[in-house]
Amino acid sequence: MTGWPLAEDAPNTADLAKCVHCGLCVNSCPTYAITGLEVESPRGRIHLARAVAEERIPLTETVQEHWELCLQCRACEAVCPSGVPYGQIMEKARAQLQAAPPSKSWGRTFRRLVLRQVIGRTRVLATLLAPVRFFARSPLRKLLRASGLLRFMGPIGLLEAQLGRPGRPFRPNNKHEEGDVALFTGCVMGELFGDVHRSTVRVLERSGTHVFAPRNQTCCGALSAHDGDLEEARRLARLNISAFEASSAKTILVNAAGCGAAMKEYGDLLEGDSKFAERAQAIAAKVLDFSEYLVGRTLPVGRLPAKVTYQDACHLAHAQGISTEPRTLLGAIEDCELVETDGADLCCGAAGIYSLLQPAMSAELRQRKALEFAKHKPDLIVTANPGCQMQYEAAIREAGIEARVLHLAEFLDEAQATSTRSP
Ligand code: SF4
Ligand code: SF4
Repeated sequence: MTGWPLAEDAPNTADLAKCVHCGLCVNSCPTYAITGLEVESPRGRIHLARAVAEERIPLTETVQEHWELCLQCRACEAVCPSGVPYGQIMEKARAQLQAAPPSKSWGRTFRRLVLRQVIGRTRVLATLLAPVRFFARSPLRKLLRASGLLRFMGPIGLLEAQLGRPGRPFRPNNKHEEGDVALFTGCVMGELFGDVHRSTVRVLERSGTHVFAPRNQTCCGALSAHDGDLEEARRLARLNISAFEASSAKTILVNAAGCGAAMKEYGDLLEGDSKFAERAQAIAAKVLDFSEYLVGRTLPVGRLPAKVTYQDACHLAHAQGISTEPRTLLGAIEDCELVETDGADLCCGAAGIYSLLQPAMSAELRQRKALEFAKHKPDLIVTANPGCQMQYEAAIREAGIEARVLHLAEFLDEAQATSTRSP
């Protein structure tokens, strides 16, 4: 017997049993750091999952709230000596919430609708984000900021603070193009962070790698998976697998930490799908993060006189185990002073759409980062995930800090271009 309402996507009992309650993970957990509550720690959340699985407690709204406050940052998984696959457990626990009362709440229904019908549909997303890009560079934005009205506009005010100055979109090629290294363009990433993709391409070209963006690729599915909509995450994964299989790519390069982590785990996501299981493993094995690919290659000299802090993206550091590679790339830039802040690997509170769903916890984590930035006064804040970039934009805006937020690719691109221009 089991207390899970969706048996086919229930957390694996053997995975849950791996937790020996040692507590070595709790001090890495951002929600535990803020609340000090066992139920807001990884150990507490796993304990609740076991109790539900064994039908010792029902899947109440209170249990659901403890899981929903989890950022799914996987800092706990990275330090767990027992190898508890916390990310997978929480995705499957969240999947249960779609079938648990009050599964028909407007909030969940609306969220699922947006993720399925907007984020997961490239054309719809492109159409809806076009006016956002226009607004970001319009006088209306300046007027709204000057009026102070944004402070009273709740999530819209937060989104405005998070919005940088998006350039042109960067979308997959419509014409058929061949090559060894393919770029994954993503959903929001391609629409609002086209400049990051263009920087990525330039940096790779300077290192001797031609990169192309195969057609028919789509959102990686990470946002849906984190929300517990594994059906939609699998749909998107299948589309991407087919798109990359149809290309000649031997390597799939990803410059968004959350997407890279999700794609490296396509094999797990589709393990029960007889048609796609092996194909998913094969595609996942080709996925590399931008910094992972670049770190062993010969790069042109870069120079950027600036004080720089690197902030780990959780799904790069904790889910993919990549934290030294970005720092190595940054450290090779001449005249760049790299400063480490406390909690650089602690979640910034962006976590996909978490900042909209859990604004209070997200704001606490954002403010912690802002305090560190105020202390160390970096000129540049560098990270490797679009959601983190948006959260840092909001952090410095709220705290009145003078700094620029860049993706690692943008930083390297600027440093290489500056170096070329230097006498
Ligand atoms: S998840 Fe891992 S680190 Fe945390 S209490 Fe369980 S066994 Fe210990
Ligand atoms: S994923 Fe992050 S927020 Fe969630 S329990 Fe683990 S450390 Fe805490």
